[in-house]
Amino acid sequence: MTAIHRTDTTAQQSLLGEYAESLLGVFGTPSLVLTSGRGAVVTDADGRDYLDLLAGIAVNALGHAHPRWVEAVTRQLGTLGHVSNFFTSPQQIALAGKLLQLAGAPAGSHVFFANSGTEANEAAFKLARRSGRERPGPDGRPRTTVLALESGFHGRTMGALALTAKEAYREPFEPLPGGVRHIPATLEALEEHLDDTVSALVVEPIQGEAGVLGLPEGYLRRARELTREHGALLVVDEVQTGIGRTGRWFASSAELSGEDLPDAITLAKGLGGGFPVGALLTIGAEVSGLLTAGQHGTTFGGNPPATAAGLATVLIIEEDGLLANAREVGALLGEGLAAVPGVSAVRQHGLLIGADLEVPEGVQVPWAPAVVEAARRAGFLVNAPGPRTLRLAPPLILTPEQARSFLAALPGILSDAAAAVASPGAAPGASTPKEA
Ligand SMILES: *Cc1c(COP(=O)(O)O)cnc(C)c1O
Repeated sequence: MTAIHRTDTTAQQSLLGEYAESLLGVFGTPSLVLTSGRGAVVTDADGRDYLDLLAGIAVNALGHAHPRWVEAVTRQLGTLGHVSNFFTSPQQIALAGKLLQLAGAPAGSHVFFANSGTEANEAAFKLARRSGRERPGPDGRPRTTVLALESGFHGRTMGALALTAKEAYREPFEPLPGGVRHIPATLEALEEHLDDTVSALVVEPIQGEAGVLGLPEGYLRRARELTREHGALLVVDEVQTGIGRTGRWFASSAELSGEDLPDAITLAKGLGGGFPVGALLTIGAEVSGLLTAGQHGTTFGGNPPATAAGLATVLIIEEDGLLANAREVGALLGEGLAAVPGVSAVRQHGLLIGADLEVPEGVQVPWAPAVVEAARRAGFLVNAPGPRTLRLAPPLILTPEQARSFLAALPGILSDAAAAVASPGAAPGASTPKEA
């Protein structure tokens, strides 16, 4: 561990001051400077440890510095780093094959590698535009309508932002690519809007950024029927839910399997285990044929280190039975959270968990962000996707003991948060809570 020089300002406060001078302010000021991690524990610049129950927002599936993942990525970096997509590598081919196998995709299915979730969705958006041209609408003109959900999140680049409904994210950047219609996440809205003018429906199987909201029972099944009937693509955004997060390789497989897979699946977050890698899976030969040579590309996407990281992540999840661990430790956390006074509802899907909080009487500031700060003071990292909702997306390696340690600490965290909002500035490290 690095030496800590305790003066008036801690190492961390001084680094955060420098951060504010050089980093663009789009993230506000980060709450911690982290310097190392091991398993589900991270350490800050002042030497304090935290149990990481957020995992870089559903990214560090194997926790931090997993020895076999580090070995695989290090070996790759020492053998062959970047090569561009003029060339390929065994890792790229192996990861593509593995993802198609895990998805149960039929022959003729393919993979495009990107570097992030938003890029995977950009590729899916272009696929939707291509499909709209190949299957014109009733007026004989290309279909340009894409349906997405009102509470959905698909990323921050212009196309993915056009798919994202949240006004605060969109409005400063208009005009965005056109044709996207946001509909409520109900079966009624699906029946009403899915017609022959639609080129694609883009949905998250569980809306992570919206607070871990599931879709109505049967939604994806019905979406599959209607998109087929009307010649539209069904695109499932599994950027947050994919690669074991919910205790399945793909959350959508709860309703979509065999003959009824989606037409396209996007992945990122957990796929690289912390290395930036995203992917678009195109299911079946017809859909895969929509994007041909020269129509899309990326310099970095799918390079040897990134795909070695993805391959190591997927193989370790498989070999170590981490899907089962996500289900078991997730259930323990979900049941435990539901029993804590002050928690009003829990939505638990493997290790993707949203917990709604009862706001104590008299509290004027956003409550969940205040709880996030109190949790941090107690040594736990979680986040608040909304003013009354906590999200947990811990590493899939989380142990039952680690889960229990948070459950045991939570009542105290809630009281500390209440004390901190009652007398701001009293709690160590307290500041105006902001939405995380
Ligand atoms: C995080 C997220 C994205 C965006 O991924 P980035 O890697 O941040 O670009 C897209 N879709 C969903 C469902 C996400 O959770």
